[in-house]
Amino acid sequence: MNLAVVLVSPKTPGNVGSAARAMLNMGASDLRIVAPRCDYLDSQAVAMAVHAADLLRSARVYPTLREALADRDLSVGTSARLRADLPAPRHPALIRPLVRQAAAPALVFGPEETGLVNSDLEQCQVTVRIPTGDYASLNLAQAVLLVCYEFLQGQDEPAPVTRKTATREEMEAMYGHLQETMHLIGYTDAVRARHTLRLWRALLDRALMSSAESRLFRGFLRQVKWKVDQAAKEGTPPDTAASPAGPAQTD
Ligand code: SAH
Repeated sequence: MNLAVVLVSPKTPGNVGSAARAMLNMGASDLRIVAPRCDYLDSQAVAMAVHAADLLRSARVYPTLREALADRDLSVGTSARLRADLPAPRHPALIRPLVRQAAAPALVFGPEETGLVNSDLEQCQVTVRIPTGDYASLNLAQAVLLVCYEFLQGQDEPAPVTRKTATREEMEAMYGHLQETMHLIGYTDAVRARHTLRLWRALLDRALMSSAESRLFRGFLRQVKWKVDQAAKEGTPPDTAASPAGPAQTD
């Protein structure tokens, strides 16, 4: 499976090395590190990686989570905690079919002390939580092992049909466009924008859009802008503005 493991700002080299080992154990090889806070190739990391030292050395570093996820078509966040303002995390086994149907899934893990912040989790279509006793915060590498274990089960079953969904980069560009349009038409204001967009992200992420569908949606947004600009030019309210052929873009 083309599963990428993304570690956001890890602090302890040993954890990164152990995470690499866990990945090799579970058959994953694409390690991505966002803004590391340590030298993840130091001797402690290499010692903990054991036979996964090459996997560790081939890790790619990204300045932001958005860049690390750009080519992925599914991103699964992980969280030890329930967050009042985000959808409840699911059991990893329930997400396995979604992951196995994705062409390029990613699993996202947070920093040791704080976990992922809400703006990271917003970039994930789903969040999973490993059930635990009262003390829910697992060691980072142990969390990597358990979630990869769940996702890599059933490899010997017939492969499900792979879904072709838009990449995260296409979806993020679409959300940026949607936000601009919301401001343009006064659908939301600066105070409520974040919350409003989060609701729309949840709705549209559930649709698992294809690239063509994301372009279709952006074509609609472009038409809205065209109409508003046209009305402003003609000094008429948008609903009475003449609309000749318009930009006629649907993709
Ligand atoms: N104190 C943080 C936990 C950080 S542990 C918090 O309360 O959120 C580091 C990372 O390991 C987390 O960001 C998450 O990616 C993963 N992790 C730890 N425990 C987990 C659990 N029970 N379920 C899912 N992921 C977990």
